[in-house]
Amino acid sequence: MEEIELMKKMRNPIIEWYQKNKRELPWRKEKNPYHIWLSEIMLQQTRIEAVKQYYERFLKQLPTIDDLAKVEEEDLLKLWEGLGYYNRARNLKKAAQVIQEKYNGQMPKHYNELIELPGIGEYTAGAISSIAYDEPVPAVDGNVLRVVSRLIGSKKDILDSKTKKEFTQKLKEVMPKKYTGDFNEGLMELGEVVCIPNGEPLCEKCPLQEICVAKKENLTEEIPVRKQKIKRRKEEKTVFLLEFEDKIAIRKRENTGLLANMYEFPNVNKKIARKEIETILQNWCLTGNYNEKIGTHHHIFSHIEWDMIGYKVQVDSINKEFIWVNKEEILKKYPIPGAFVPFREKM
Ligand code: SF4
Repeated sequence: MEEIELMKKMRNPIIEWYQKNKRELPWRKEKNPYHIWLSEIMLQQTRIEAVKQYYERFLKQLPTIDDLAKVEEEDLLKLWEGLGYYNRARNLKKAAQVIQEKYNGQMPKHYNELIELPGIGEYTAGAISSIAYDEPVPAVDGNVLRVVSRLIGSKKDILDSKTKKEFTQKLKEVMPKKYTGDFNEGLMELGEVVCIPNGEPLCEKCPLQEICVAKKENLTEEIPVRKQKIKRRKEEKTVFLLEFEDKIAIRKRENTGLLANMYEFPNVNKKIARKEIETILQNWCLTGNYNEKIGTHHHIFSHIEWDMIGYKVQVDSINKEFIWVNKEEILKKYPIPGAFVPFREKM
């Protein structure tokens, strides 16, 4: 059967399956475009279970787009602390400001308007316009690419942007006229809970089992094809929890680049042995009287990996280079990136 015909055949089973089986999630309670937008941005790099608590807390503090447009960057980053990819939060605020200025505070309805907003790409614009407003546009994420490539038996590399473009175009041609949001969400949800990424897909539970080429031809192990591998730069770091009485040293990161404007514990870009600690302290005009190793941590960003080791050091004085604050303030006020959190837990 032609690929397009197969894709047309999946519409009704997907919509029906989704309407019966969809999970209860906080952002599905009503079709509020702000809530859908926020959840989609949070979900881009984070699991649903982890997102739930962040989502509730974020909306409690910033219940409207107006609140988001006006929030201080430091408070915003604190709300986002631990979710990573902090530009997502900054772009949310920028987009909220554009919505205030250009759309009178009302989230725009159409894909073509949404995609012009900071931080909103093809997928998110498709998700918001189809879920909140039933606009017939696809929202193609990794789950959708996996389900569609298995359904049509495609051996094209789903990490290749050409494949994504081609699938998006095909999905545009077969979008249902009604329930487009349910169709898009159904495809994504099916990919998350039935046609799963790791391990065998649960074909016996799948509404597409009668028409799926990968199932029929026993190709579920080979499809989807994922060829490109991400090459990450590896960096070493030694992190210091410098303690003076009840204060601990932190510093603000540069205002551009990775983890911009967030706070970190002082650190150096290499792994050092305990005997080298004094030399590092001298560079910061400090002396130490006690130190202990507080563990290691490996942190993966999209293009960099940090191999980290940490020391807790009691110092004899404070310096002007760092901000010296107590533990409660660090926890409440200062956004600390996830890479440093395992060391923060040793405070
Ligand atoms: Fe995926 Fe199996 Fe459903 Fe095909 S039948 S879409 S392989 S879960």
